[in-house]
Amino acid sequence: MGVQLQIEWDLQDHGWAVCRISEGPAKAELVVSYCTDGLADLLASIGSLYGASQTARFFFDSEPTEIRWVLRDQGADVGVSIYSFPDLAISLELPDEDGRLLWACTQSRSQLAHVLLEAAQRVLREHGEDGYLAKWTMHPFPVAILQDLRRLHLHHDRCDLAHDMTVPPK
Ligand SMILES: [Zn+2]
Repeated sequence: MGVQLQIEWDLQDHGWAVCRISEGPAKAELVVSYCTDGLADLLASIGSLYGASQTARFFFDSEPTEIRWVLRDQGADVGVSIYSFPDLAISLELPDEDGRLLWACTQSRSQLAHVLLEAAQRVLREHGEDGYLAKWTMHPFPVAILQDLRRLHLHHDRCDLAHDMTVPPK
């Protein structure tokens, strides 16, 4: 077994969250505001790689920092790069290379999807849909997007790990 990718979505009060990603000694801690629907965007971007998309891009609004995720379909693997730009108001049109690279890794699509699903389910188990909305305020917990990604993962990836089915399939 290689070093395990870990992702934690730490929902905080008043529309903030901290997304922690680690792989052995490599760690990144990303501050996320509710100006975008960060958890939904993260789940949906992985989901898009099961279709025709070769690359998925989205950003967290870290007020005013832009935290840009770039996911690249590399066959069975996904390349993940995360960049930061100091001012979102002017950076959205800038190329990735202009940002500061905070994180880079390559993971199997299966493991990435699995770890993300687990992270999202942990949030839901801890807070429930009502508790999530009370803290995140601008967006409800992304139940449908979680269901979509889980369905894609179970159908297309040969994942032998256990899957939390607290949210029933659609
Ligand atoms: Zn799995």
